[in-house]
Parts: sequence; C-alpha cells; structure tokens
Amino acid sequence: MIEGLVHQGINSIFTVVDNNNHSYLCTFKGKKLKGVDRSQNPIVAGDRVTIEQDPHDPNKGQILSRVPRTNELKRWNAKRRVVQTICANVDLLVCVTTPDNPPFRPRFIDRIGVAAYPNIPVLVVLNKCDLGVSPEVEERLQLYSTLDMGTHKTSATTGDGIDTLLSLIQGKTAAFVGQSGVGKSSLLNALFPGINLRTGEISQKYNRGTHTTNYGKLIPQGDTTIIDTPGVREFLIGNLEIHELGFAFAEFEQFSGECEFQPCLHDSEPHCRVKQACEEGLIDVDRYTTYCFLLDELRDHKEHHYGK
Ligand code: GDP
Ligand code: ZN
Repeated sequence: MIEGLVHQGINSIFTVVDNNNHSYLCTFKGKKLKGVDRSQNPIVAGDRVTIEQDPHDPNKGQILSRVPRTNELKRWNAKRRVVQTICANVDLLVCVTTPDNPPFRPRFIDRIGVAAYPNIPVLVVLNKCDLGVSPEVEERLQLYSTLDMGTHKTSATTGDGIDTLLSLIQGKTAAFVGQSGVGKSSLLNALFPGINLRTGEISQKYNRGTHTTNYGKLIPQGDTTIIDTPGVREFLIGNLEIHELGFAFAEFEQFSGECEFQPCLHDSEPHCRVKQACEEGLIDVDRYTTYCFLLDELRDHKEHHYGK
C-alpha cells in the first residue's frame, strides 16, 4: 500500500503522487471509499490517500482510502444544487482581489472568510495596486486585518509586493481563490515564473468549461504547494448551517452572548445585541449586510444537508 497526495481529479480520474514523486493515474477501488462520507466529490486536490498500484501498469493505481482531512474548502454549486469540495488540507487561503478592473468586491472577501471558517487562515491579497487604491478600499482592508485576516498588496504587472507574498506562503500549502480577471494567474506566474499558467482571454475560455473546472489543482513549487482554483463569478456558501453563520463573523462574538434570544440569528429577534451594536457603530453595517445576504442564501438551500 502506498500513500500519496492528490494533485487533481478530472472525470473521476485522479492524479496521485507518492513520496518518491512517482505519479499514478487512479480510480476508486469499488464504489465506496473507506472512511469517506457520501459527498458529491469525496477526493479533491490536497487530499492524502492510500492507493494500490496496478499490477500491470506502474503508472496506474486504485484509491483505497482517504486520510482524515485537517480542513476542507467547500462551496455551494447553485446550478447543480450540491455542495462541492474544492480542495482539502490547506494552510492558507489566499483571496485575490483588486482595487479596480474588476471593481473591489468586499462581499466576495466576506464570503471567502465564511467559507474558510473555522480552521483555514485567510490572506487577502489586493492585486493590481498599480491602478491605485482608494481610501474606501484601504479602510476595508484595515477592517479585515482587525478580523484576523492577513492583508497584502501586490501588482503582478510591476512586481510590487511579490517577494513579500512569496515569503507569506513559503513552505505552506496555499490555495488561491478569486473572481475571474483579478489577476490570479498573473500573480502565480509572477510568484513562480516556471508555473506557466494561462492568463487573459485563454483563462476566460477555460473558466467557461465543464464541471472539472470547479475543483482545485495542486501544483508543487519547491517547498511551497499551490492549489489553484478556477476563477469564479461568485462564491456561494456551502460549509455552514444557518445557526452557525454568525460564528463566522468574528466581530459578532463579543455581542452575541447578550442577545435576548439564544441562539439568536441576529435577524428579526427582539433585543438583538448584534443589531444594536451595528446601530451604535460598533459593528460595521456593511459586514452585517453581508451576513443578512448569506442568511437568506442559506435559507434558500436549507432543505439540503450539505452532504454531511
Ligand atoms: P485571472 O482570471 O484572475 O487568472 O486573471 P489573469 O491573470 O488572466 O489577468 C486578467 C487581466 O488582468 C490580464 O489582462 C492581466 O494582464 C491583468 N493583470 C493581472 N495582474 C495585473 C496587475 O497587477 N495590474 C494590472 N494593471 N493588470 C493586471
Ligand atoms: Zn442577536
């Protein structure tokens, strides 16, 4: 039996690489995997698995089991109405955003913060800083840094901030997420010149593709491991139940214990301390607005149990 790291899966064929850097194309042995829930896509980039080598072909194998995960990044796929796992076992989730072109979208960052809750640290990278950064964007970044997210500015075009970003991900398994066009591929190319990711129009075309593009792709770069995820238009939440959502908003914590109703959804309940804190300016109202949006979104797919 061999243990290996899953680099990617396409149409139920998984590339698994063992400790000697030998690569196997693997399928599942049998229909069910030992120790794995019945989720939509049980094996993803970043998973560690045990495999059995094909007796007739040293480059092929069968996956026997999945090693327990330390964490996982999930999202709701609205088209298929399922929760999908994008990648697993990541040390850092790098959320690539822009001050402009496409416009700064704080709600996307809020969503990533929720998706990463409770055990994936987030680093917000503001790329395309050569285009200028408005005071509003600066203020929002400042807010994220008070919420235990890292923040960092780069320009893939000028190279500003690239070395520091490299040191921030050094030695880690870092998953990169971002809306299409923020320059995620350009950034990865700037960080690792040999990585050769497609940028611009070609990646747009790639994003339009089939379901295989929903998942992450692991790319080792020396002692750092990158998981690239496809650019998306929106990131829908799929990792939490309705009553858990409030926990993912770190700034609610010091107030939620004082809400009259327990548990409180900070929605229409009377004497909600979180809502009161918003009115008093102690909680950023826009973050609370994101919370309300996400609450509605989770209610919308409430009948689903997230494949747990
Ligand atoms: P992705 O969809 O996030 O992978 O984005 P790409 O890497 O394909 O980049 C999208 C567009 O943004 C391309 O035209 C890039 O040349 C441009 N771009 C990427 N990084 C920067 C940057 O730091 N500054 C500026 N001005 N443009 C950038
Ligand atoms: Zn409340």
